[in-house]
Amino acid sequence: MTLTLAIFVVLFGLAFGSFLNVCIARLPRHRSIVRPGSACPNCGTAIRVRDNIPLLSWIVLGGRCRNCRWSIPWRYPAVEIAMASLFLLAYLRFGLTLAAAGAAVFSFLLLGLAVMDAETMRLPDSFTVPGILLGILWRGTLHTAALLIHLQNAAFALLWAICAALIIVLIRWLYYAVRRREGMGLGDAKLLAMIAAWLGPMLTGLTFVLGTFAAAVFGIALAARSRRTADPTKLAFGSFLCAAALYALFAGRPIVTWYAGFFR
Ligand SMILES: [Zn+2]
Repeated sequence: MTLTLAIFVVLFGLAFGSFLNVCIARLPRHRSIVRPGSACPNCGTAIRVRDNIPLLSWIVLGGRCRNCRWSIPWRYPAVEIAMASLFLLAYLRFGLTLAAAGAAVFSFLLLGLAVMDAETMRLPDSFTVPGILLGILWRGTLHTAALLIHLQNAAFALLWAICAALIIVLIRWLYYAVRRREGMGLGDAKLLAMIAAWLGPMLTGLTFVLGTFAAAVFGIALAARSRRTADPTKLAFGSFLCAAALYALFAGRPIVTWYAGFFR
């Protein structure tokens, strides 16, 4: 039974990964995700239903368009595999619960934003803003039967989201005051607000520390390779925040508990 469910969850994840690929390709360019239907970006031929099966079609077609043999970027199968893995992880970690459904939705948003920021340096509002609202809603539905507690949880999620956004805006302002140019974008502020709404203050703190550390290590490595100072504004900081948030979602709780132990 568990295995059947796990297979079902993986197939579900592959389907959502396929939909996420459409979002990633179109949203940063302000195009509709509904119309037109999927077409080859190179020759414009509409993709037939049997060539649009997640992962399987890519393997059968040898990673190329059936019409013009244009090689389909590896991002497509990679996102599908990543989404399926995250759905499976949510199921294994939280079971068949509301918490697992929330983790799956949050993973979908984070994976999409990570890839969009890496590819286009954009974090579309069409992902972050509904993401903040969904996080508040999800917080409000968890852990209790009392209506007042639901409202309180949702209100706290909203409060953490606002605090997180203000922190990024403050850092952005300080950076501008010192360096006289834009550092973090407002997209980063909305992204961290979304993360705070879903994860609460402790895990968001962990996300910020891990994300900043990873981005710094990556930036230094990049600068060492190209033998010049890397421009920090060219680094997709949002992608690092998304990866750190995924880590915090699935494995952050023990680290936060360990850290809180020092203050008892
Ligand atoms: Zn083509």
